[in-house]
Amino acid sequence: MNTRSKLPDVGVTIFTVMSRLANEHGAINLSQGFPDFPVDPGLIDLVSAHMKNGRNQYAPMQGVPQLREAIALKTKELYGAVYDPETEITVTSGGTEALFAAITAVVNSGDEVIILEPAYDSYVPAVALAGGIPVFCPMRHPEYSVDWDMVIDRLSSRTRLIILNTPHNPTGAVLSAADIDALTGIVAGTDILILSDEVYEHVIFDGRVHHSMSRCPELASRSFVVGSFGKTFHATGWKVGYCLAPAGLSEEFRKVHQYLTFATSTPVQHAIADFLEKKETYLGLPLFYQRKRDYFLSLVRDSRFTAIPSAGTYFQMLDYSLISDERDLDFARRLTVSGGVASIPPSVFYDKPQDKKVLRFCFAKKNETLERAAERLCKI
Ligand code: PMP
Ligand code: GLN
Repeated sequence: MNTRSKLPDVGVTIFTVMSRLANEHGAINLSQGFPDFPVDPGLIDLVSAHMKNGRNQYAPMQGVPQLREAIALKTKELYGAVYDPETEITVTSGGTEALFAAITAVVNSGDEVIILEPAYDSYVPAVALAGGIPVFCPMRHPEYSVDWDMVIDRLSSRTRLIILNTPHNPTGAVLSAADIDALTGIVAGTDILILSDEVYEHVIFDGRVHHSMSRCPELASRSFVVGSFGKTFHATGWKVGYCLAPAGLSEEFRKVHQYLTFATSTPVQHAIADFLEKKETYLGLPLFYQRKRDYFLSLVRDSRFTAIPSAGTYFQMLDYSLISDERDLDFARRLTVSGGVASIPPSVFYDKPQDKKVLRFCFAKKNETLERAAERLCKI
């Protein structure tokens, strides 16, 4: 039977492919981004306590009030932005759901969507399913800065949305104050909306400021800002995220969310709301991950890989051009099968095949995991 696929070019995600390959070959898995250290036992106790107290039925569609209020408070304290928990904050089943719901809510058939490349892999299929047209703008290699002139060139009367991601997966780049100024100038006087994927807001290094769209009123008024507690609390398997957006945009967002998942795990939402009172947990993350990055870099310093500076996220890009001429997909496969370390080949995050000879490694790992991986990388 002809299934008439709506996503004929889409296969299994690279995260599943590389994690599976790593398991098959017993490789150390630095591919898919997830921590291999435990969640804070205090947070687990809270989930369990809420379950025992009977918080096991559907949560309100927009999220439990306690969590929406805690998110509002955190956003105000960190970014000086005021979002009304009643009408402007929605809890979602991970950042992924928030991204999909925002795109589905506002992209109509034939609308153009600016996508900076490399782009996290869930954006383009969501745009395609909404009937939108992705318009690709590669970032400048190797520093992965945004070429705003190219963005301006590729805008048209049909541009509906610009998708941004800061700190950026897979490159580790972060937007600067100058980027925010450029973006503000570009969208002024237009109806262009922004979808800002900020799931790594707390994983940013060397004293850099996270330039959330929520900080800047001109941008916040046209933005969906997406967060994820999976990254913040080392619990990627819990799938709790959120979307901040002005009331009109949140209303449209919720129309999709209510039929996509309706609501998100009730006891986990309550536990996260309580845990957010311990601000030191997320305020300590930049230093925690900066130390991991620095440790990983010190371990691979004597290898034949060359590091591309990472300013945020728990990913490190390593250039392998001194080692091999292979395409990143082939080299990543060989490194997993024979070298014993799995990584992500970033070319999969581009529309047109790229040959930049870099791989992405996740350093959200115990020091001993990083040590074992680096020992293998140094032998390549
Ligand atoms: N955006 C980016 C850039 C990510 O790296 C991730 C992590 N997988 C997500 C969104 C999705 O977040 P979540 O796991 O909360 O769905
Ligand atoms: N965000 C994670 C990464 O970039 C993986 C997410 C997933 O497996 N879908 O590695």
